[in-house]
Amino acid sequence: MPKPLTLYDNYARALRPFGPLDTAAGVGLYTCGPTVYDHQHIGNFRTFLFEDVLKRVLRWNGYAVRHVMNITDVGHLTSDADEGEDKMEKGARRTGKSAWEIARLYTETFLADMKALNIEDPTVLCRATDHIPEQIAFIADLERKGFTYRTSDGIYFDTSRQPDYGFLARLDRAGLKAGTRVDVGEKRQPTDFALWKFSQAGEKRQMEWDSPWGTGFPGWHIECSAMAEKYLGDWFDIHCGGEDHIPVHHTNEIAQTEARAGTHLANFWMHGYFLLADDAKMAKSAGEFLRVASLVERGYDPIAFRYLCLTSHYRTQLNFTFEALDAAQTGLNRMRQAFHALPGDDDGEPDAVLLDRFGDELNDDLNLPRALAVAWEALRGGSAAATRRATLARFDEVLGLGLTSWQPKVVDVPETVRELAESRAAARRAKDFAEADRLRKALADLGWEMEDGPAGYGLKQRS
Ligand code: AMP
Ligand code: ZN
Repeated sequence: MPKPLTLYDNYARALRPFGPLDTAAGVGLYTCGPTVYDHQHIGNFRTFLFEDVLKRVLRWNGYAVRHVMNITDVGHLTSDADEGEDKMEKGARRTGKSAWEIARLYTETFLADMKALNIEDPTVLCRATDHIPEQIAFIADLERKGFTYRTSDGIYFDTSRQPDYGFLARLDRAGLKAGTRVDVGEKRQPTDFALWKFSQAGEKRQMEWDSPWGTGFPGWHIECSAMAEKYLGDWFDIHCGGEDHIPVHHTNEIAQTEARAGTHLANFWMHGYFLLADDAKMAKSAGEFLRVASLVERGYDPIAFRYLCLTSHYRTQLNFTFEALDAAQTGLNRMRQAFHALPGDDDGEPDAVLLDRFGDELNDDLNLPRALAVAWEALRGGSAAATRRATLARFDEVLGLGLTSWQPKVVDVPETVRELAESRAAARRAKDFAEADRLRKALADLGWEMEDGPAGYGLKQRS
């Protein structure tokens, strides 16, 4: 009997059995998308990969998934405390393009990188700037219910009206208030946040709209409450994002929806933990950052980064190093070659016992490192090749490594190189390792590297 699906819910701070709220409608999933003022870095993609795997695990369990992701193309300020500039306007200045142009450009590069990592498209991809009326209607409702106040620079949410404000992050509000040294300006509480910001007098913003309160633009949090409600309702199954969203962004999404609809928006709140660079937070604002393209430039397959992410649990931080990526690339190559080398057609039946074991690991709060170990076992195991092939193909619906579509690159190998490689393979089979080493060196002198895998050898030309 396979284990039922259990997921870690950060709202309850506990592992909880998962079941959809409405079985007929399928699982409603909302994931916070990119802020498109620059490229996304590989840290962002660790979170998007975790969400992609979650979606695939839900489907493994037989659920249809309705996945909504937003594109933040306005309102995300350089400081989460409602100060600083809009990241889009800043990005426009940096690049010399308009805010609208960079939104389009970085949405396109984001989608191309998603494809390169084999991350599935969401069912609905929605832009904040396409949903200004919905956000204004939401704020107007909050105003009617008495949750807002006005300052000289915007309309703010009054968090003192909610006794359980900050529950998701277990915020110590009294401590925050007493200990605050930051200048909260005209805000009544340090935790209050902007719903609508006014364009300043004499300022012509590239992105601004009329509203009942004055010309300006929506705050960052309101877009997610408004779009989630529009496409999934105000009480749906799972809401995800990176761990940085717990204390501010998701806390404020919950505050808004609780004030308007009386729910905490989603039944499960799940967060992907950070990818670190040299044990420090990877951030775009820190200048240099690694993108999917940076990995490709260095000769890696983007799917090797996917494989690397699968080797660590989503609820632990992962320190990125190129040594770890090398190991992931080697693991991926071996898995692909071993799968490819399995003879037989595609009409074998998967191994039922291994399917259950793999599913048990997935259902144990997405334990992908252990599920990957089961995949290796299945690949090397003793069952018939057609069974192993079918089992791995089924696993790959969740792993997303593209095993069935991968083809070895056919390169023209010069005859002398091929002969040396054949002689070396023969020496290895005869356990003449001194001769095998000599031939490896001869190949290296010609610029070729030989890789020994379970399915035979591969030849790689050094770049
Ligand atoms: P942003 O483009 O900043 O709105 O972020 C997009 C997604 O990436 C959000 O879910 C963030 O929480 C997440 N994120 C940001 N930095 C990292 C990181 N270093 N590691 C993992 N996820 C991150
Ligand atoms: Zn969001």
